[in-house]
Amino acid sequence: MTTPVRLPLPPSLYADTAVPAVPTPPLDTDRRVSVAIVGGGFTGLSTALHLAEQGTDVVVLEAHEPGWGASGNNGGQINPGLKHDPDQIEADFGGELGRRMIDFAYDTTNFTLDLVRRYQIPCESRQNGTLRAAYNEAAATGIKTTAEQCISRGMPVKLLGREEMRAMTGSDRYLCAMLDERGGDLHPLSYARGLARAAISAGAAVYGETKALSLSREGSRWRITTPRATVTADKVLLATNGFTDDLWPGLRRTVVPVFSSIAATAPLSDELARAIMPSRPVLYESGHITVYYRIDQRNRLLMGGRGPMHWIKSPSDISYLIRYAERLWPQLKGVSWTHGWNSRLAITADHYPHVHEPTRNLLISLGCNGRGVALSSAMGVQLARRLVGGTSAEIDMPITGIKPIRMHALWPVAVTATVLAGRARDRLGI
Ligand SMILES: Cc1cc2nc3c(=O)[nH]c(=O)nc-3n(C[C@H](O)[C@H](O)[C@H](O)COP(=O)(O)OP(=O)(O)OC[C@H]3O[C@@H](n4cnc5c(N)ncnc54)[C@H](O)[C@@H]3O)c2cc1C
Repeated sequence: MTTPVRLPLPPSLYADTAVPAVPTPPLDTDRRVSVAIVGGGFTGLSTALHLAEQGTDVVVLEAHEPGWGASGNNGGQINPGLKHDPDQIEADFGGELGRRMIDFAYDTTNFTLDLVRRYQIPCESRQNGTLRAAYNEAAATGIKTTAEQCISRGMPVKLLGREEMRAMTGSDRYLCAMLDERGGDLHPLSYARGLARAAISAGAAVYGETKALSLSREGSRWRITTPRATVTADKVLLATNGFTDDLWPGLRRTVVPVFSSIAATAPLSDELARAIMPSRPVLYESGHITVYYRIDQRNRLLMGGRGPMHWIKSPSDISYLIRYAERLWPQLKGVSWTHGWNSRLAITADHYPHVHEPTRNLLISLGCNGRGVALSSAMGVQLARRLVGGTSAEIDMPITGIKPIRMHALWPVAVTATVLAGRARDRLGI
């Protein structure tokens, strides 16, 4: 028997302010179930909730606690769409699947906010829009193209020019932005805990401190060993994202598990918060390296972006983000930064989310490429449908083969170089 190791939550603002967690004790007796899900983030929890709603016998095995991974530590931005533009998606996957992917991905924010309302999850959710902002000509051209493609499909988006962006952000930095009214924000750890609570109330079993150690066939079923007990299941979903290990051969090497970091201020005065973002949308930059920010319901500025490729503990570990914020709003100088933390997300080589079915009754979903708050929540419905007998063709995402990334072992060097080069170009204004 292996001793379970429950890692504490990263030292985030969310860990200090979330609603209490529902108890999720470790699995300590053997279980026989219809579906076993490995990973207790938005993907795993939403799938479990939608399975349990239909009366399916489902367990979630989470190595630490629900929301411990990216789901409880992210920027809290509920952003619509995929990384690629609609025309590109149709070109890559053809008209029929491409259109379904677009409809699905741009509706994920409404889906998520409806889910929050339906289960009355207390997670400070709002729908004040998402700004995708450009500070150089190349990015501005890209954003204009995206906006045109969205507008021609009848989506509720607007292109904002320099003056409008100054009014929206109190900063001169942005040339333009696309405002998508479907976007919003929430407290991600409270949301993850709310999903876990809803799934358990609907009949799912969620086990914390229960790492899946191995996955193997036992006749027509799957057998998952954990530190204290074993689960046998008809079907399995792997939802381990940036923490994917070697449970399934080659899977770990299909994603680059990059860290993203966030620094948070103490609550700002109403006057300062209004000067930065009077109408409280969320914003992410379309630049060499993505910076994203929002002001939460308690007037704290949360500033996110790429940081060190190892775990951090305090805002001083990501002083780059603080300096960047002070460059956008010099009046922030002297404000106290109370928290700095990070977590890992999964980037795929083609920047699309990946759904795999490498063999019968095994489903894998990972790689939301930094846009998983809404996307992973909505994927839960699609994955649940497939796990109770729907066809793979009904999933509004392509089912692809497992293709390990070439030279995967070199990713830390490549990512660090990209981040440093991006920062240098940002400083030079190119
Ligand atoms: C700092 C940061 C900021 C981000 N900001 C945003 C944002 O603002 N908007 C947005 O849309 N997206 C954002 N993202 C991305 C988003 O958080 C993710 O796409 C989403 O949370 C993925 O959910 P998930 O359930 O797939 O993975 P995760 O939440 O990472 O969950 C995976 C879980 O699997 C567990 N696990 C792994 N292996 C095992 C095992 N063998 N046995 C048991 N359990 C296991 C882990 O402990 C973990 O809890 C951000 C990500 C990060 C890291």
